[in-house]
Amino acid sequence: MQELTDTFGRVHRDLRISVTDRCNFRCTYCMPAEGMDWLPRDEVLSFEEIERIASLLVDRYGFDSIRLTGGEPTVRAHLPQLVAKLARLDVDLALTTNGATLALVAPALADAGLDRINVSLDTLHPARFVEMTRRDSLAAVIDGVRAAKAAGLDPVKVNVVAMAGVNEDELIDFAAFGRAEGVEVRFIEFMPLDADQAWKRSSVLTQADIVERISERFPLVAERRGHAPADRFAYVDGGGAPGSSHIGVIASVTEPFCGSCDRVRLTADGKLRSCLFAMTETDLRGLIRAGADDEALAAAIEGCVHGKWAGHRIDQVNFIRPSRSMSQLGG
Ligand code: SAM
Ligand code: SF4
Repeated sequence: MQELTDTFGRVHRDLRISVTDRCNFRCTYCMPAEGMDWLPRDEVLSFEEIERIASLLVDRYGFDSIRLTGGEPTVRAHLPQLVAKLARLDVDLALTTNGATLALVAPALADAGLDRINVSLDTLHPARFVEMTRRDSLAAVIDGVRAAKAAGLDPVKVNVVAMAGVNEDELIDFAAFGRAEGVEVRFIEFMPLDADQAWKRSSVLTQADIVERISERFPLVAERRGHAPADRFAYVDGGGAPGSSHIGVIASVTEPFCGSCDRVRLTADGKLRSCLFAMTETDLRGLIRAGADDEALAAAIEGCVHGKWAGHRIDQVNFIRPSRSMSQLGG
């Protein structure tokens, strides 16, 4: 098996696929309230095109994990059909969703072969939920978390973008929620990928703050980090309901994991990106639609990964925001 290696020796085995740029929420830290221009449908990769690229990465380079994301992946019609196609590959298959319709679709996704799921939920207060997502769906999302567990998706994790002055008063409530529901809560440092470009360094709640504050109520102990972007912390008392023994923190700003990054991203319009913050991308859709064979596709993929940089520069004076926001990149 060939390895997909960059010039820093990092081997790539993790694919994140954005299946749509559309979304039924308008989270303040991701999209503007109005005025997103959606991709025309014919510019979005078909399921067959996605399957072709995924199969090539799995068969030729030994990719072993795939995560579907968006935009909001569950707004893509017939999503379970894509899940079923990808489940035939021998990979760990995951999905990230806002959970709004998860109570309806979780059984079909699990039946189609989805292994695990991350549900994004940034506040447990109904009014704040409306402010943060510009939609009134808190109860539906919580139902979705429960439905995902009931459908047998394992693990079910809850992603919380932690922002100073926005939801920092809920850290302990989220820890308690995870322990009661039997889910691992993963706090994400706010990144400069919001469409409104309102990100400020001072709005980032840091990993150190998060762990310190939760530890005051529920003592935590750090675990070693592997390839996964999340640093994991175990509850000293073992946690609550099964599935809640740890929290995770994705410290992209204060503790970047670039040195062990093994990920590439495919956007909904078929561009391969070697980093969320990359300034260039490789047009696989154009190649496929021009009739490229697997060798030509593989050469383009290798070229993209070869150009991967050592790491992003958030927090440094020479940081340049990518022109696409999170929902267009596939977070
Ligand atoms: N719509 C799905 C969702 O919200 O889970 C999937 C796509 S969303 C872009 C993927 C993840 O990125 C979510 O957990 C979301 O909270 C996170 N995200 C979006 N904008 C972000 C930002 N500016 N900084 C950090 N995380 C962000
Ligand atoms: Fe939609 Fe997810 Fe972005 Fe929220 S974070 S606007 S749910 S894509």
